[in-house]
Amino acid sequence: MRILILKGDGIGPEIVAAAETVVQSVSRRFNLGLELEYGEIGLESLESQGHTFPEETVAKMKASDGVILGPLHTAIYPAPEDGGVNPSGGTRKALDLFANIRPSRVRPGVPAHVKEMDVVIARENTEGFYADRNMAVGSGEFMPTEDLAISMRKITREGSARIAEAACKLAEQRSGKLTIVHKGNVMKLSDGLFADTVKEVASDYKLDIDEYFIDAMAALLVRKPEFFDVIVTTNMYGDILSDLAAELSGGLGLGPSINAGAEHCIAQAAHGSAPDIAGQNIANPTAMILSCGMLLDWLGTRHDRPELREAAKRIDDIIETQLGEESGRTTDLGGPLGTDAFGDAVAKRIEG
Ligand code: ATP
Repeated sequence: MRILILKGDGIGPEIVAAAETVVQSVSRRFNLGLELEYGEIGLESLESQGHTFPEETVAKMKASDGVILGPLHTAIYPAPEDGGVNPSGGTRKALDLFANIRPSRVRPGVPAHVKEMDVVIARENTEGFYADRNMAVGSGEFMPTEDLAISMRKITREGSARIAEAACKLAEQRSGKLTIVHKGNVMKLSDGLFADTVKEVASDYKLDIDEYFIDAMAALLVRKPEFFDVIVTTNMYGDILSDLAAELSGGLGLGPSINAGAEHCIAQAAHGSAPDIAGQNIANPTAMILSCGMLLDWLGTRHDRPELREAAKRIDDIIETQLGEESGRTTDLGGPLGTDAFGDAVAKRIEG
């Protein structure tokens, strides 16, 4: 099984290296036979090939079984015509990765802002307000005059139905509870279509369903996070809500995610490239490591290989043990470990 590794920008190379150490350890322990391959993306490929998202990398992604992708500092990329394409939008479009799955859980012993929380946010990933991916040609954001900017938001029945299917399956595997989040009181047509489509899909499942407007949901997630389980929502609401959930559970460094479609899956931490702490060996690689675990779990389900799912479970269990000890944490969580030492410690425990 071929896994492509793309380091990304900012803290990407450090957290991806720690995650790679863990993936190699789990591959040895469970005889997974993972072959790790490498490619260039972001600022690295901009320098060597003049493009942040080279064709060669897209081809490698398509040819691999799974991808591990570090965060990208897209804010400083040049204009697309000068080689600065946003690879996040690009991959989601090129590989049709419609589901961004972002779990957040309060783990025993880890300092968090709330006592109890175990949620998974299923975020639609290919349309909504994201100007770089919601048009076949051109951008969904434009300026008719210097003083007027317009954004187009796209919601389709098909896009809403496929994220709904993914969320319903998740809810079925978990507690059977699904919360639909939208703003249908104001965005009556677009969010109305989203909510109606999700409800239609969910009617084929035996689930306990409720729905909230995004603003109320942000407050409720802080007030009674233990009340929620699987949350399904549109692109931008999901992006914002999942950062809130990650922070509530202990910090941005803890929020993993996968971007998945029918054929491809990419492990990508929910946080960004954190350029303020890059190159100092202080970034927390937990989110990146857990994202790799989610990728292995996805591959295990897709290829019906239980050992991949077992390996994913082992990563999650060991992270729980590691974070449960103050001496096992990185500095953002009050511990003594650097990024690399954290990865080494988790890898050692996995094989132990
Ligand atoms: P980008 O522009 O790539 O989104 P950003 O710095 O604006 O980057 P994030 O990287 O998501 O946004 O995070 C904001 C802050 O949270 C960072 O500046 C950093 O201090 C902290 N942070 C994010 N990820 C981590 C991590 N893995 N470990 C420790 N701190 C982190």
